[in-house]
Amino acid sequence: TRKFFVGGNWKMNGDIPSIDGIVAFLNQSGANDAVDIVVAPPAPYLSYVKSQVKNNIKVAAQNCYKVPKGAFTGEISPAMIKDLGLEWVVLGHSERRHVFGESDELIADKTIHALESGISVIFCIGEKLEEREAGHTKDVNFRQLQAILDKKVDFTNIVIAYEPVWAIGTGKTASPEQAQEVHEWIRQFLREKVSSEVADKTRIIYGGSVTADNAAELAKKNDIDGFLVGGASLKPDFVKIINARS
Ligand code: 13P
Repeated sequence: TRKFFVGGNWKMNGDIPSIDGIVAFLNQSGANDAVDIVVAPPAPYLSYVKSQVKNNIKVAAQNCYKVPKGAFTGEISPAMIKDLGLEWVVLGHSERRHVFGESDELIADKTIHALESGISVIFCIGEKLEEREAGHTKDVNFRQLQAILDKKVDFTNIVIAYEPVWAIGTGKTASPEQAQEVHEWIRQFLREKVSSEVADKTRIIYGGSVTADNAAELAKKNDIDGFLVGGASLKPDFVKIINARS
């Protein structure tokens, strides 16, 4: 069985006072051995958040570059993330893909480099509304996954986040059936292209307008192994999402 995984992606939000508030409700939520909890603050706050969280809560960077160091102004490397004592990075988020124009290939290079540097990856994929409406949901998600398969990725330290772009920040959550359908396709894709073992072990989490109200129904689906939460991860209700399966 796959351990439930709940990530909080703060995106470009927060300041010290509001972060203190978030950390307070996270720490009060108590240890929950049944759930992996990872929060991703903006890069300037990584160390601070790491120093404040308790109960085995992990801290992730929201992005990183594909080489350890050098003349890449504005970038951070997995080596630096590791140096801070952190274990996770989010890569391939739809905002990186569609606001900042990151390609499948760049994201794949970054994923391989992060994993080789000892940083685990929350690897995000997902189709846009027009792609879904054109019947390309499967193709788009498979293409985004294939980019890392082409580079011989090792899935041991990857969590896949299926985040349909039309559901992100829109309040239009995928229905449990819509999400389950794509999660099942992704797992089948892993079974065919990688191995049954990887398909069975890899956590596939859902992101896109997850709230305390819809998390429990989504969490009942066989292939939904957790969530990647944006807006609702900034609010005390996030604790209900963490506990959605218990
Ligand atoms: P929302 O939960 O705000 O829709 O954001 C989802 C997301 O992009 C998490 O990475």
